[in-house]
Formats: sequence, structure tokens, C-alpha cells
Amino acid sequence: MSRVVVVGAGIAGLAAAWDLVRAGADVTLLESERRPGGVIVTERRDGFIVEGGPDGFLAAEPELPALAGELGIGDRVVAQRARGSSLWTGTALEVLEEGRAAALLGIEARGADLAAGFRSFAGGMAEPVAALAERLVSNLRFTQGLTGIAPAREGGAWRVALTGGSAHEADGVVLALPAYAAGRLLEQVGVAGARTLAEVVYAPSVTVSLAYRAGQVTHTLEGTGFVSAPNAGGLVRACTYASTKYPGRAPDGHMLLRAFLAPAEGDPAMLAHAELAPILGLRGAPLWSRAFHWTRGLPRYPAHHAAHVAAVRERLTRLAPLAIAGAGYDGAGVSACVRSGREAARLVASRLGVP
Ligand SMILES: Cc1cc2nc3c(=O)[nH]c(=O)nc-3n(C[C@H](O)[C@H](O)[C@H](O)COP(=O)(O)OP(=O)(O)OC[C@H]3O[C@@H](n4cnc5c(N)ncnc54)[C@H](O)[C@@H]3O)c2cc1C
Repeated sequence: MSRVVVVGAGIAGLAAAWDLVRAGADVTLLESERRPGGVIVTERRDGFIVEGGPDGFLAAEPELPALAGELGIGDRVVAQRARGSSLWTGTALEVLEEGRAAALLGIEARGADLAAGFRSFAGGMAEPVAALAERLVSNLRFTQGLTGIAPAREGGAWRVALTGGSAHEADGVVLALPAYAAGRLLEQVGVAGARTLAEVVYAPSVTVSLAYRAGQVTHTLEGTGFVSAPNAGGLVRACTYASTKYPGRAPDGHMLLRAFLAPAEGDPAMLAHAELAPILGLRGAPLWSRAFHWTRGLPRYPAHHAAHVAAVRERLTRLAPLAIAGAGYDGAGVSACVRSGREAARLVASRLGVP
């Protein structure tokens, strides 16, 4: 049986491991943290569903519904309930054309795909993560960070070294890591051009969820939220009316807002509430708040990125089976990450002759 090590249990690595297991490979999925999902984090609190990272995926993209169907949770996919969004000019909220908010936030997608809106899961974006982790429970190893990779001296094709000094031998490897981590590892095995991957910048951001009683929000909230104009001033880049956008995000009679902030000094929840209060007519303090700090959040691809990635992948074909997957290469959206994980699994499986 071919032994494959998948590194990184974000959505890309989970999708890769799932396909490799089903293809009949002996899969070990290594994750440096204590939980699966990477930047996908959903928490429950007092009947609210709080997203730390992504809150949905493009409805036009089939990858998540297809995966959910395979995992038996296809009926958990939910559509957005509200449509449309606004622009905060610094003095007023103005209605934005459909799809413009996503474009202003730098979400790269075709206009028609953006116009089709977003979907999520009834229990939040961690639902497919949990379903995958449950099926991969015997393959998953937490707190096992990869520190190095080298050709094996005997036996398998690769030897992967882990924090704590242990090592695994493998016939094939999928690196489903952020590009800065994968790039450094590929440099160790002499892949020319790997340094350019290590240079993909992941922008920092902070998401703050704020819970209110419905009566505390005195303005009528139109659409799914707003994006701040670049010259609007302030720290809030965007705000999602989470409990208006998707069903079940807040208990009856309550509202959940989520603000995206530029990193700044001070308590992000207080900063977000203070800025949102006059815009949305918030009265009194939030019931509670939850901030997530993403020191390296969404990747921003440099010029000629696709060509660099293609060149690295071409060089990888000359080595023993080794593939890269994840947000750093072919699109940062959750659907693109699932696609790239599955493609990496297919590549490694076909090189190993696993059906
Ligand atoms: C705040 C925020 C909001 C977003 N909103 C949306 C959205 O609404 N819709 C959408 O489609 N996309 C959104 N995205 C993008 C999308 O969520 C991510 O691009 C995607 O989930 C990344 O998945 P991944 O598997 O490639 O990487 P990650 O989730 O980063 O997973 C990589 C994993 O590798 C592990 N790891 C790292 N180094 C090692 C090592 N040395 N050894 C072992 N394991 C290691 C990490 O712990 C992590 O678990 C958002 C992202 C952020 C940050």
C-alpha cells in the first residue's frame, strides 16, 4: 500500500487526504495545531454561530456542495437570505451594485459568479471540516509540525521530519501549507524558484463579531452589510450583518454583526463598536464580542504568480511524488482550496499508480 503524508489539515489538506484515503492509499495527515480547519473556525456561543475566518463560499462554485454531498451533509448547505450591500462613504451608506462589494474587498471572481451570491452551512463553515476530520480520525495527527523534507535514504521516496525529532517515510507527499511555509520546505530539496512561493504575502486582518439585542440596533439594516470606501477613514474595512445574511446565526430577538478591521493598537471589539455605533445606530454596549487576529490572513498574489507556480509544479514532476495545494497558489477562496487539494491528491495518486 502506498504511504502518503499530507501536511496541513486546512480545507485543502483535508480534501486531499479524503480523496487519497478513498483511492486506497495509506494516509497520514499531519497538522501542527490542535484542531483541523486552518483559517476555518466556527464557534457557538449563547445560541449564536460565530465565524472567525470564512463565513461562506460563492454559490456559483460547485466544490463545497459536491464535497458536502459525498460527506452526507449536502442538506446542510444554506443560501444567503438577504441580497445587496452598501458603501460607507464616511458620511452615509449608499447602495452598491450587486457584486461590487466583493470586488472592493478584492475577491477575485467573474461578475456573473459574484451576482449569484454566496452560500454557507447551517452550522457554519466548520461543518465540512468536522465531517472530514471525523472520517479521517485514524489518519489525523495533531501537534505534528513538519520541520523538514528530504529524499529518503532507503525505503520510501521521502523522509519528513517533525517537531520533537520524529520522522515519517512516505512514497508521496502533499504539502497543503501556506505558500510561505511550503516554499521554505521546497527550497530545502533544491526546487528552483521555490523562494518566490515563500514571498507570497498573506495580509493581516482582524475579524470582530459583536452580539446585540435586536432593539439595540436602531437603524434599518439593508442587505448583507457594507464595505468602507478607501477614503472613508476609520479602521472598519467592512461589516457583515451576519444574522441577516445567513439563517440561524443569532437567536430570536438578537443580531450578530461581524466587522473586518485593519490591525491597530487597542481592543478591536471596542474600536469596532465605537465606529459602527453611529453608522448603524447602535445603542448601548454589545452583549459580548469575539475577535480573531489573523497575522497572516488572505494571500495576495504578486505579478506573474501563476507562471511562478506553474514553473515550480513543473520542477516537482522531476522529483518523487510531491504536490502543493492550498490558498497560496490557484485562488484563495474555500472552493478553490478544495479544488487544489483534490487536484494534488489526483496527481500524487496517479504518480503512485493508486487508482
Ligand atoms: C478572515 C478570513 C476570511 C475569509 N473569508 C472567506 C470567505 O468568506 N469565503 C471564502 O471562500 N474564503 C474566505 N477566506 C479564504 C479561505 O478561508 C482560505 O483561503 C482557506 O480556508 C485556506 O485553506 P488552506 O487549507 O489552503 O490553508 P489553511 O487554512 O491556512 O491551512 C493550512 C494548515 O496547515 C497547518 N500548518 C502550517 N504549517 C504547518 C507545518 N509546518 N506542519 C504541519 N501543519 C502546518 C496550519 O496549522 C493549517 O491548519 C477567508 C480567509 C480569512 C483569513
